[in-house]
Amino acid sequence: MITFDQVSKTYPGGHMALEKVSFELGRGELAFLTGHSGAGKSTLLKLISLMERPSAGKVSINDIDLNGISNRQVPFVRRDIGIIFQNHRLLERYNVFDNVALPLVIEGTHRKHITKRVHAALDKVGLLDKVKCQPSTLSGGEQQRVGIARAIVNSPPLLLADEPTGNLDPELSMEILSLFEDFNRHGTSVLIATHDLGLIARMKYRSLTLERGRLLQDPLAIDPLKED
Ligand code: ADP
Ligand code: ADP
Repeated sequence: MITFDQVSKTYPGGHMALEKVSFELGRGELAFLTGHSGAGKSTLLKLISLMERPSAGKVSINDIDLNGISNRQVPFVRRDIGIIFQNHRLLERYNVFDNVALPLVIEGTHRKHITKRVHAALDKVGLLDKVKCQPSTLSGGEQQRVGIARAIVNSPPLLLADEPTGNLDPELSMEILSLFEDFNRHGTSVLIATHDLGLIARMKYRSLTLERGRLLQDPLAIDPLKED
């Protein structure tokens, strides 16, 4: 699904955020991306979602070399990626329905399909009864779930989450993680950046660890049976 081949990223000003990072995330896999603040987790996710470009090396999604993707083509690649942020980034001017509908509206989906799919996405995260609410009237956990509904509304094969449980208590964090597990069981590949080691310890998934821009030895990196 995702391949990093000797990927480095240096920001303007000379800071090397990632250094020769190589790994593969298989189709239908769920993995954590962990490391201290500043280790390069967000940068790695931004290279996958084409919010940043690598300084060296190659990132591929489904064998498509992202270096060959022009800025004009970026929106088409992004359709296949659901992105979840720590601070959910909901638009306060819009109600829950319109926030979740946004990716479909951008894609030009027909109105009657939009309603059906927004309701299905909200149902999956257990918020169908909040469809007409403004984001500011919801709890933190609910707002995060709206952000997740928005990320999955167009059924992307890949979900990226950047500290999705950062503002939530442990119980809500587990709830959010079970949602990710649920999507993963239905075939979605999921990559979750988090520095919450307690959370990871309670789950049985692979974890990729960054330390100051370098990926520490990944025991699954050379598994010859793993599909890509
Ligand atoms: P993490 O998500 O693990 O906290 P980041 O990927 O956000 O790490 O940041 C990695 C390093 O790159 C940090 O030292 C950060 O300050 C730096 N960095 C991130 N974004 C930029 C940017 N746009 N310009 C310059 N430096 C940046
Ligand atoms: P997020 O976790 O959502 O990426 P951050 O707080 O890490 O948010 O960063 C917010 C923005 O600032 C990002 O676009 C990031 O690339 C940029 N940024 C992070 N660190 C630096 C830095 N040291 N210098 C310049 N920009 C930075």
